[in-house]
Amino acid sequence: MGDTFSRAELSAAERELRSQLAQLASGAWFLRGALSERSSKCGKPSCHCVSGELHGSLYLVQSQAGKVRQMCIPRVLQDRVRQAVKNCQEMQRLIEAVSELEWKRLRTRKV
Ligand SMILES: [Zn+2]
Repeated sequence: MGDTFSRAELSAAERELRSQLAQLASGAWFLRGALSERSSKCGKPSCHCVSGELHGSLYLVQSQAGKVRQMCIPRVLQDRVRQAVKNCQEMQRLIEAVSELEWKRLRTRKV
């Protein structure tokens, strides 16, 4: 890397933010997008959903290259996807916090 720094230059708070970010990046699933819970009828005339007991489905909605795309998440993967979406939001929060510290560093620079 062109312009590296020593971790000793960082505040304890910044080291902690970067460490949390690295842990998520290296050890957790993460996925950008929003979850959408929908309920619907399946169309089978004999199904219980006809009487109003609708089927619940979970969709992941994501904008990608200017378009919105979505995917239905099967029940067996829902916990993993919910956690991955949370992890991604947390990583975005951490990136923003570290970015803000660098902004302030540059604003108050001595040179
Ligand atoms: Zn049904």
